[in-house]
Amino acid sequence: MYRERCLVKDNKKVAPGHYRLTLVSSRIAKAARPGQFVQILCSDSCDPLLPRPFSFLTATARDFSVLYHVVGKGTHLLSQAKAGDSLWVLGPLGNGFTDRGSWIVDRGSKILLVGGGVGIPPLYHLAQALTRGKSKGFARNISVFLGARSKAFLLCEKDFKKLGVRTYAATDDGSKGRRGLVTEAVGEFLERIAHSAERRAEMEGIALYGCGPTPMLKALSVISKKHEVPCEISVEVPMACGFGVCLGCAVKVADARQGVRYAMACTEGPVFGADQIVGE
Ligand SMILES: Cc1cc2nc3c(=O)[nH]c(=O)nc-3n(C[C@H](O)[C@H](O)[C@H](O)COP(=O)(O)OP(=O)(O)OC[C@H]3O[C@@H](n4cnc5c(N)ncnc54)[C@H](O)[C@@H]3O)c2cc1C
Repeated sequence: MYRERCLVKDNKKVAPGHYRLTLVSSRIAKAARPGQFVQILCSDSCDPLLPRPFSFLTATARDFSVLYHVVGKGTHLLSQAKAGDSLWVLGPLGNGFTDRGSWIVDRGSKILLVGGGVGIPPLYHLAQALTRGKSKGFARNISVFLGARSKAFLLCEKDFKKLGVRTYAATDDGSKGRRGLVTEAVGEFLERIAHSAERRAEMEGIALYGCGPTPMLKALSVISKKHEVPCEISVEVPMACGFGVCLGCAVKVADARQGVRYAMACTEGPVFGADQIVGE
């Protein structure tokens, strides 16, 4: 984990109320793993006092980017940052997704990425890592399901397409892709495989990864349980310190010895097995 004053390379609007911020730091970028996050201090004043957590969208040898939605004071201040400014950043933090890249090769498996809203950025980072140096044919084993309010809010669709992965979209108003919840599309995708005599064996090699609003993650968890496919989810619960000191981001998890216990999303997560999280 590094604490650095990072130069702002770019801070560009990519959708209504959504910005992509690129910051220069080779140390943070090189250490970043998909599903991990950074804490960014949005202002040099004491208001807001606490940094804000954001998942990595990309990470190269020199810089990294995050994609954020302006929802309050911190993200509003962040949206004012310009190329040439600098911001305090702490990271990479947390535990990321399990890398199943070799799993695809070994078992002819399929990977389904399911993202809603600002849950999409860490899945794009994961898709980049999985497809890096691989053929377009390999990328077709990865399907990404993107959910949004409407077409204008569908994040990263073109970027995923450039990687060669299969993309499916669902919007609340039907302005792009199917009308309805993205998890319905995932459920139907798996049902088709489960009900096909020729394809049923494929189920063995499927893995799900999700990030998005809590109801979406709960639905994904139910789907993974029903079809008995492994599923990892990133829980972007509000947090303060980001490294396990304030105990503000506790989530209830199943524990073999204790039955149920609290885990800190910032240090044990934000990625957990879907079967670990105990719903309220
Ligand atoms: C591990 C992690 C990764 C994240 N990655 C991203 C990302 O890639 N892109 C992105 O846009 N956001 C991401 N978030 C959420 C982001 O941190 C918050 O939106 C941000 O802290 C809001 O700061 P603010 O000062 O603008 O809003 P505040 O003034 O702090 O809050 C504005 C409103 O948003 C609510 N809120 C704040 N944080 C969260 C949260 N985590 N979940 C739900 N509601 C919240 C508050 O309750 C309040 O109603 C992530 C959060 C975590 C924990």
